[in-house]
Amino acid sequence: MTKWVYLFNEVKEAEKISGGSWDAVKALVGGKGSGLLDMTRAGVPVPPFFTVTTEACNAYQKAGKFPAGLWDQELKALKAVEKQTGKKFGDPKNPLLVSCRSGAKFSMPGMMDTVLNLGLTDVTAAGMVKLTGNARFVYDSYRRLVEMFGSVVLGIPDESFEQPLHEYKHEKGYKLDTEMTAEDWAQMVEAFKAVIRKEKGFDFPQDPYKQLELATEAVFKSWNGKRAIDYRNATGISHALGTAVNIQTMAFGNMGEDSATGVAFSRNPSTGDKKMMGEFLFNAQGEDVVAGIRNTSQIETLQERMPKAYAEFMKIAARLEKHYKDMQDVEFTIERGKLWMLQTRNGKRTAQATVKMAVDMALEGLISKDEAVERVTPENVDTLLHPQFDNEAKKNAEKEGKLIAKGVNASPGAAVGQIYFDADMAEKMAKEGKQDTIMVRPFTKPDDVHGMIASKGVLTSEGGATSHAAVVARQFGIPCVVGASAIKIDLDKRIMNVGDIVVKEGEWISVDGTTGLIYVGKIPVSIPSIEDQVELMTLLKWADEICSRKNIRSATDGGPTRGLQVWANADYPKDAQRARSYGAVGIGLCRTEHMFFEPERLPIVQEMILADSSEGRTSALNKLLPSQRKDFDGLFEAMDGYPVIIRLIDPPLHEFMPDEEKLLEEVVTMRVKGESVGLKAKEDLLESVKGMHESNPMMGLRGVRLSIVMPEIVEMQVRAIFEAAADCTLRGIVVKPEVMIPLTGTVKELDWIQPRLERIAAAVMGEKKIKFEYKFGSMIEIPRAAITAADVARDAEFFSFGTNDLTQMTYGYSRDDAERNFLITYQEQGILLKNPFQTIDRHGVGTLMQWAISEGRKTRPNLEVGICGEHGGDPDSIEWCHMIGNNYVSCSPFRVPIARLAAAHAALKHRPVIAKKPAAKKTVAKKAVVKKAVKKVAKKKSK
Ligand code: ADP
Ligand code: MG
Ligand code: MG
Repeated sequence: MTKWVYLFNEVKEAEKISGGSWDAVKALVGGKGSGLLDMTRAGVPVPPFFTVTTEACNAYQKAGKFPAGLWDQELKALKAVEKQTGKKFGDPKNPLLVSCRSGAKFSMPGMMDTVLNLGLTDVTAAGMVKLTGNARFVYDSYRRLVEMFGSVVLGIPDESFEQPLHEYKHEKGYKLDTEMTAEDWAQMVEAFKAVIRKEKGFDFPQDPYKQLELATEAVFKSWNGKRAIDYRNATGISHALGTAVNIQTMAFGNMGEDSATGVAFSRNPSTGDKKMMGEFLFNAQGEDVVAGIRNTSQIETLQERMPKAYAEFMKIAARLEKHYKDMQDVEFTIERGKLWMLQTRNGKRTAQATVKMAVDMALEGLISKDEAVERVTPENVDTLLHPQFDNEAKKNAEKEGKLIAKGVNASPGAAVGQIYFDADMAEKMAKEGKQDTIMVRPFTKPDDVHGMIASKGVLTSEGGATSHAAVVARQFGIPCVVGASAIKIDLDKRIMNVGDIVVKEGEWISVDGTTGLIYVGKIPVSIPSIEDQVELMTLLKWADEICSRKNIRSATDGGPTRGLQVWANADYPKDAQRARSYGAVGIGLCRTEHMFFEPERLPIVQEMILADSSEGRTSALNKLLPSQRKDFDGLFEAMDGYPVIIRLIDPPLHEFMPDEEKLLEEVVTMRVKGESVGLKAKEDLLESVKGMHESNPMMGLRGVRLSIVMPEIVEMQVRAIFEAAADCTLRGIVVKPEVMIPLTGTVKELDWIQPRLERIAAAVMGEKKIKFEYKFGSMIEIPRAAITAADVARDAEFFSFGTNDLTQMTYGYSRDDAERNFLITYQEQGILLKNPFQTIDRHGVGTLMQWAISEGRKTRPNLEVGICGEHGGDPDSIEWCHMIGNNYVSCSPFRVPIARLAAAHAALKHRPVIAKKPAAKKTVAKKAVVKKAVKKVAKKKSK
């Protein structure tokens, strides 16, 4: 018989049956269940419970009913809980009450519902009143049960219950729930029962077992509820996991002023500071804290009134953090001074907190540096380098009276957007209207998550740092301010106001999730400095150390055994400086054509292009030489000691010429107006531009082909490069110039051009009487070059994959046209899983790269290989580059930190399995088996 149910003391059985790993235990009994089992084993006070497995849930989904044996096992487990607590389910004298809580392998905050106080009926309620002498508590609990049962289990909308309560309080002149008396709550029990009768046509069940059965089933069903599915889609959690169900003895936080309930994080989930952050309420139950309907108190203030329970709680939280080696998100309830723990899990946190906690915990010795690096995602790093509000701009906005409110800074970052007052509108305007939206609500519920994800920011007027809005926003890295109570939201009129400042739906506001400040209008943002982010700098240093470890990579075809280096694409000295400050150790691509576009140079460039003789061209080029030399000089100086790859001119020449249509228009206008001055020159220009027309310029006269037709241009460029390098060397700067020839298709092109260029290099060094290291190499961006890489490497001392063109030409797509016309359809139809221009297509383009590297290194074992396309900053593509033996990836300066982390992740993930030296006793045959196995693993990993 399958074991569907695990009792609070059966953690060992769960480990055994699930196969031993804690991950497998979580998959079997869910995250919540595993935490409860583990805490019970550790002697932490947890109300007795049992857990129905995720397998039971999956079996239910298949069959549409409880699997055989489940209900009997539940009843048996309930008996054991009764024995442990000394109470009996349904017993009029001393009834056991339980909660029914969902809990999947991964926490899905609030996506599936929990029902509290199961077991209360008219009979047991009366018994409990006698037993506790606290009728208010009993009827408060009972009305909660009827309400939760009605909404969660029977699917009646919340409003159907909120409405009668609202009216009742209004009639009585009450403002707060705390004003309700025992008699009032007893009335509400009857009112809520009437709601169920009216909506469903039957009565709230007076049989506790029926309550339990239906509640269990409701949790199973909620796994496939819309909001749970949406949440899993948004977070990438598998739909096949199923949820567990925890049936747990109630601990009552609503038994009076000596009782309380709360939630806390063992460290600050927003900043990462090593200080507990939590909230609680006296005389309250469960959801009251997160729902934000009552004003909560900070956890520290619990100490005054309940010093003993507080001290015990702090001790337990610290212990749990140590045990799980991670920040814990805990729930607790204090019943008449006695502390009960109801949940522990690794808490969700912001990017900033992720980095800070990882680094702190490594420094505290709780985890290793490698683990710290593994805990941070490339997206986290991306978030930390996202724009933030400019300080000056904030001050100015404040002076102008645009600062309207301050709330709790729940999730950091700057958001500027147009406000919408419900999730559907926010999503619609963001997706269809392509607006930057900010979702504004009094508070959020699990049904609102789609609107939050679509928005740039979230603002609520109620709730605290552990409210639903705060937790979800932190998880998705959305800037969020909660509890900005000065803001009054009118959902009917669709406006919000602070005093007489009114903001209508669709108007702009700026939300600073870092400080909690709200402004009307748009506030400019600026890029945060990386140097100020001490923990991030430390973490990235550790990432670099991982990549520079010897033998972190198993050498493929004689490739490097260290991890990837990260270089940057930079055209100007200021980009190079930024790249260095972000940790780049080389320039992988400097495009020289930008330098031709500068306003004072363009006329000379055009003069050069229009020259009808080699002499004419050379004389124009000689005028360009000094400025090119200066460009390179600055670059070498900024990259002192690091390699700098400079690509020779790549685009077709017409790009430097005036637009043909515009020229024609000008000529025609002049003719019509009868203007003759300069007409002839314009007509000649038009003729030349016409003559340069190509039907497919991207595949026409450009790259190395242009250099062969007009070698004067690249000859000038190489002279400029080497003169600058020589000058820098004389100034004591260490230069490592690498000259890159673009668009090679056959080695014969290199055979033709490279010797000419190398002669210039030698000549300059001779003139300046100086020597330095340099390389000539090729871009690999035409499939033919990749295929014939063994030949290309005869001339090329380095390869750099231009993966944008390589992808275009391998697929036969023109990127602009593909992205505009059919890539989305292809992705929707599953023809392409990802956009191949963002993430390298490993099967096609990636395999070509792999081939090129291996062939190239056959000819030239120490061939230096890099990538300079946009893919160089994409984590998935970086992993591929690591696997196929690249020396480095080169990306935009802003993505360098992300790439450094991704490179370390790749290195850790593909660390070679080190074969343990077989014991001396083992036979030779066995040794061979071990070796084979290791090889197999290595092979698999490199796939
Ligand atoms: P979620 O996964 O949405 O956090 P939970 O199952 O943790 O849902 O329950 C919601 C609220 O009810 C929490 O505040 C929790 O502490 C409280 N709760 C659940 N079970 C019990 C119980 N047996 N006694 C007291 N409070 C409970
Ligand atoms: Mg919970
Ligand atoms: Mg190219």
